[in-house]
Amino acid sequence: MVTPPVLADRLAHVRAQIEAAALTAQRSVNDVTLVAVSKFHPASSVQEAIEAGQRVFGENRVQEAAAKFPALRAQHPDLRLHLIGGLQTNKAKEAVQLADMIESLDRPALADALAKAADAIGRLPELLIEVNTGDESQKFGISKENADPFIRTCRQRFGASLKGLMCIPPADQDPTPHFALLRSMAQTHGLPVLSMGMSADYPAAIAQGATLVRVGTAIFGPRPAAS
Ligand SMILES: *Cc1c(COP(=O)(O)O)cnc(C)c1O
Repeated sequence: MVTPPVLADRLAHVRAQIEAAALTAQRSVNDVTLVAVSKFHPASSVQEAIEAGQRVFGENRVQEAAAKFPALRAQHPDLRLHLIGGLQTNKAKEAVQLADMIESLDRPALADALAKAADAIGRLPELLIEVNTGDESQKFGISKENADPFIRTCRQRFGASLKGLMCIPPADQDPTPHFALLRSMAQTHGLPVLSMGMSADYPAAIAQGATLVRVGTAIFGPRPAAS
C-alpha cells in the first residue's frame, strides 16, 4: 500500500523547490516568503503545518479565516494571516481586524471601506493591490488600464502600508508574461512586494521576482469541496 506523503513532507518539498528556484534566479531564498493557502482545509491541517514550522497562511474568505485563525493565533502569536480572496466592502471591518496583510485591494470602493474600518479600529493591515493582468471580465483585480492611477491614489492614502502588487494569471496562458508585467508595474511605483505564483507555477514566479508565493494544493493536497 502506498501512503500519501504527509503534509510535512509536501511542505519540505515546496520549500526545497523555492530554494532551487531562488538559486537558479540568483536570488536570496530569504527574499521569498511562502504563504501556505489553507482555504477549505480544517484548522487541524493548519496546526500540522505550524508544527512543521510554517508561520504564514493565506485564506480567501473572511468568514472561514475568522472561524479558524483566532484560536491558532492565541497559541502561536507569531502566525501571520493573509487574506487573498475577493473582498466585499461589508467584510472590510472584519478583514481589517483579522488580517496581517490583505492582498486583494482592487477598487476604490474597497479602498474607502478599508480606510474607514482602519480609522474605526485603529489598525491597518499591510495591503497589496490585485491587478487583473489578463483583463478577464470574471476575475477580481483592478484592470491594467486603471491600475496606475489606482496605485498612485492608494499610495497617497495608505502610505507605506501599501506594500506591493498581486496577480492571478489566466489559467490557460503562460503565466510568465503576467508575472513580468506585474514586476514592471511594481518597479514603476517603487513597491517592494510581489505576490505571484501558486502550486502550478511558483518556480516561474520566483524567476520573475516574486517575493510572496501563495501555495495551497502542493502543501495541503486537493481541497475538500466547498461547503
Ligand atoms: C486558492 C488560491 C491559491 C492557491 O492555489 P493552489 O493552486 O492550490 O496552490 C493562491 N492564490 C489565491 C488567490 C487563491 O485563491
